[in-house]
Amino acid sequence: MLNIVLFGPPGSGKGTQAEKLIDKYKLTHVATGDILRDEVDRQTDLGKQAKVIMDAGELVPDNIVIDMIRKKLEEHKGGPGFIFDGFPRTVDQARELRKALSKYDENVSIVISLEVPKEVLMERMLKRGKETGRSDDNEETINNRIDVYERQTVPVTYYYDKKHVHVSVDGVGTIEEIFKRIVKKIEEFETYH
Ligand code: AMP
Repeated sequence: MLNIVLFGPPGSGKGTQAEKLIDKYKLTHVATGDILRDEVDRQTDLGKQAKVIMDAGELVPDNIVIDMIRKKLEEHKGGPGFIFDGFPRTVDQARELRKALSKYDENVSIVISLEVPKEVLMERMLKRGKETGRSDDNEETINNRIDVYERQTVPVTYYYDKKHVHVSVDGVGTIEEIFKRIVKKIEEFETYH
């Protein structure tokens, strides 16, 4: 299986690139943010709890997202692989992902970080907020989401650095240019590992 973690700050283009990678490699998309927004839309108990946290730009508790991941792995085991988008966001989530995958004799193949400067992130998310009405795409929440990313999520890159599966890609450019850079990294990785 090819199991990709698409990593990067909010607004770095993970969702957009994930869609293109899914087309190319036929992977199962696991986007914890999308799953949570679906719970919010359906007004489930979990959705009601999550909405408050998401609107503040904080992280929902690890055990909640990890349960979602375990379910997805079980549903799609034995397929071509997974693309994790917006997960893991804490080192504990990364450890739990490793444990969950190891039950199927699988591991994370590659972690691709999309590098995008803060001003560009802000610009992209404000635009998305206007276009889609996404409630956490407002200036105050965006600032907190970037802070939370720097404090709680960046350490995940050090975890994967130690496992020698982490690569970075310049996330500024056209969608197609960035996609080409990502595919190149995946192909290099597949050749050498
Ligand atoms: P995203 O769509 O990935 O930007 O996620 C939107 C929001 O959902 C985040 O700001 C968090 O509140 C929550 N969320 C998504 N994924 C996770 C995760 N892996 N861990 C904790 N919270 C998450």
